[in-house]
Amino acid sequence: MFVPELPEVETIRSGLAELLPGQRIAGVEVLLNKSLSAPESHITTHIAGAGVTDVRRRGKIMIVDLSSGYSLLVHLKMTGQLVFEAGGQQPAKPGTGTNEPHSCPNPTSETGDGRRVAGGHPTQSMAGDLPDKTTRVIFTFQDGSKLFFNDQRTFGWMKLVERSKVERDKCFMAMGVEPLGSQFEVCHLKSRLKHRKAAIKTLLLDQSHVAGLGNIYADEALHLAQVHPSREGQSLSDEEIERLHAAIIKVLGDSIQAGGTSFTSYVNANGITGDYLHNARVYRRQGEPCRACGTTIDKIKVGQRGTHICPNCQKLT
Ligand SMILES: [Zn+2]
Repeated sequence: MFVPELPEVETIRSGLAELLPGQRIAGVEVLLNKSLSAPESHITTHIAGAGVTDVRRRGKIMIVDLSSGYSLLVHLKMTGQLVFEAGGQQPAKPGTGTNEPHSCPNPTSETGDGRRVAGGHPTQSMAGDLPDKTTRVIFTFQDGSKLFFNDQRTFGWMKLVERSKVERDKCFMAMGVEPLGSQFEVCHLKSRLKHRKAAIKTLLLDQSHVAGLGNIYADEALHLAQVHPSREGQSLSDEEIERLHAAIIKVLGDSIQAGGTSFTSYVNANGITGDYLHNARVYRRQGEPCRACGTTIDKIKVGQRGTHICPNCQKLT
């Protein structure tokens, strides 16, 4: 199962940031209550009628700021997707496939004439007639455009929070620093690894240290930094921590760049950002030669997670 990481969510965010600000919400239809947690009265007074002022991101959570002084927090989790359909025109042709993940033969996010933009877990719903059986919430804008929140397995969620309380919301409380933000400094990483016996990869996946890193980018960053993922956090030298810090920023930045600002790349790659994985260093490349030294990439387990390494570039001792 593919779980979006920071670059995938950033790709969706930047797509929405081009479309939503300036739009005014005319109505909200909640088809599954748990997908949008807010009292009915708040939906009527704080979402309906409000304009969208900004689309931001913190970790893997998107923050849609509204002119009502409230913000919608959105976490797509495993199967969530957002589909924006521009108003004033006929909807796209119905799809022909099922909603099985990855089954869409050409899950392009922009239908032929570019009237639809979608991001998130790739399914036929992105190209098919909406709403469909996976649609949980529908936002209708004043110009007739619609934003569908589809979520097959319903682990994703939206919630309404007062703008002034967003940063203190419990979903952000345990979240570590933003790896692409100014607070992510070498000394921060150093302090998080100090006295830690856990494997460095496990520490990187812990969202309380760094927000938004998952299996793909942890493997990629550790290879670039030439650090074996099973090493104890406390065993890394200052120089290795500096390399790892730079590597995290580089792999995330490269991936966002490969995804660009269009949703299409994310979707077309079967749920993986843009062209990044075509150029992946180690992720899902077991059996292939290391791009740095030619040694065969190995797949091992670290903390129950499938982990890709070059046994030559990343030594245990
Ligand atoms: Zn190598």
